[in-house]
Amino acid sequence: MDFPGGLAELHTHLGGSVASDAMWSLAHEQGIALPVKDYWEFDRLVTVSDPRGVPNLDALDAIYHWTELIQSSPLAVERSVHGAIGGAYRSQGITTLELRFNPMKRNRGGERDLDHIILAAVRGLDLAELEYPQVEAGLILMMDRTFTDTQNAVIVEKAIRWASRGIVGVDIAGPRPGGARYPYRDLAPHVEEARSAGLGVTIHVGEEGGDQGIEEIAEVVETLRPDRIGHGILAAREPGLMRELAARGIVLEICPTSNLLTKALAGEDELRDTMRAFVEHEVPFTIATDGPEMMRTRLRDEFELLLRIGALGEDGLREANARGHEASFVRGATARNAV
Ligand SMILES: [Zn+2]
Repeated sequence: MDFPGGLAELHTHLGGSVASDAMWSLAHEQGIALPVKDYWEFDRLVTVSDPRGVPNLDALDAIYHWTELIQSSPLAVERSVHGAIGGAYRSQGITTLELRFNPMKRNRGGERDLDHIILAAVRGLDLAELEYPQVEAGLILMMDRTFTDTQNAVIVEKAIRWASRGIVGVDIAGPRPGGARYPYRDLAPHVEEARSAGLGVTIHVGEEGGDQGIEEIAEVVETLRPDRIGHGILAAREPGLMRELAARGIVLEICPTSNLLTKALAGEDELRDTMRAFVEHEVPFTIATDGPEMMRTRLRDEFELLLRIGALGEDGLREANARGHEASFVRGATARNAV
């Protein structure tokens, strides 16, 4: 399939977007103590290497632990952002790209200055845009479900401070403490502040968790009114919620391979049913990888997967890709790709 305006990828984590060889070099340059001495063992450590995936999301967090540790310096963050944007354009022809990361998981518990980490990401972005002027890229700063309210407030404050330099939105992810329902409504003041400063809002919710996950999506829609939702696949089980998403025009960022690898979706049949439910209820969505290097997939592989299992046809895929350009928080992405 060809996509004349290029591809759009809106949901990819910096910790999952840098090639293993680059991460290996960064780890050595910084003298980070690794639990393995062989490159191929390291490759398995920082990616989902078993095609059967990981047992659950906690296992994925253990992988992120290593990539975040290696990316915990201005040097590593700059190189990671620069490498991820260039790689996406060279390998996939991605012309609209949003990269998300949590700066507070990259400052070694406060040892590194947060502004230096964020400014390093901005430098990586600037450099990539000079090298690849065809690409519109932006950064999303992430809050975390394990963080205190004060920590999350600082992340949003930093996102606003650096908004003029390429920070385009805010998000939240991370494990739920004790697996308990997360009180998303408590984030409302931070989200409102971000929104009034012109930042986009996307929220990780409804990836897993059964009925609790469905209730969380409803709470997010009602109390946070996000522009987009990361995953949100559980909404496919609830027609009323799908109607609400469609009515509000909230765009779901769907990451098929990631959901299969983490067992959020049981298999290809459930993936197909989920996508068909969203199409039927006119819920807007885009397709992404969640982190191409960690998930060992590429955006075009995601499109091929959906086509192969009959979840979407070519027109549906083109529509999802066009929506990616339109729903991007990066200024200019829509205008350029509307031609
Ligand atoms: Zn994600």
